[in-house]
Amino acid sequence: MSGVLFVISAPSGAGKSTLLAALKKRAGGFGYSVSHTTRDARGREKDGVDYHFVDRMTFKEMVKAGSFVEWAKVYNDLYGTSFSGIEKQTASGFDVLLDIDPQGAKNIKKKFKDSVLIYVLPPSMEILEKRIRDRGADSESVIEHRMKEAPQQIKACVWYDYIIINDDLERAVEEAKAIVISERCKTIRRLPDAKKLFDISSP
Ligand code: 5GP
Repeated sequence: MSGVLFVISAPSGAGKSTLLAALKKRAGGFGYSVSHTTRDARGREKDGVDYHFVDRMTFKEMVKAGSFVEWAKVYNDLYGTSFSGIEKQTASGFDVLLDIDPQGAKNIKKKFKDSVLIYVLPPSMEILEKRIRDRGADSESVIEHRMKEAPQQIKACVWYDYIIINDDLERAVEEAKAIVISERCKTIRRLPDAKKLFDISSP
């Protein structure tokens, strides 16, 4: 794979979607792989844009057919990253941004050793709950379920490559941008370009 594979995870309510939207505007060069999910669309979510919304049977058929690079049960629904979602982006020369949960992130790291894992933390559990409630998209039982799972999800940050604490959106976006730019400039990724410009085959 030629582009960088960035994986971003966060517990629901950490402000990840807002951060990602700002990052894409500021850093550019990203393709976004649209996941498949069995959950219902929320609010203004559009099929094919936010997710490919499919029923369980379709999802399971895709699993059987080997269509997913990774898939996982998150909360009570199934979510998966398709090979075609990633390939579409890399074929266009983009880096790929995957917004997936820690189980998915672990599987991606196993398959793509060079992938870059970033975990976004909320500043506190209280703010996490407030953000989920303010979003007004989930029922009380869903909120309770997400709050119950959040501490376990948060522990996963220890094995990510980077952690961003999203207490101030502006700073969080700048940190994410700094990570992206640094990764793009790493020698292992820039050397092919440098070799096109200069004869650096022997030291
Ligand atoms: P939500 O329902 O709030 O959109 O997403 C719930 C969780 O599922 C989030 O943590 C999100 O990152 C994760 N998720 C979304 N797409 C995928 C995917 O394709 N694979 C995995 N493993 N997790 C996903």
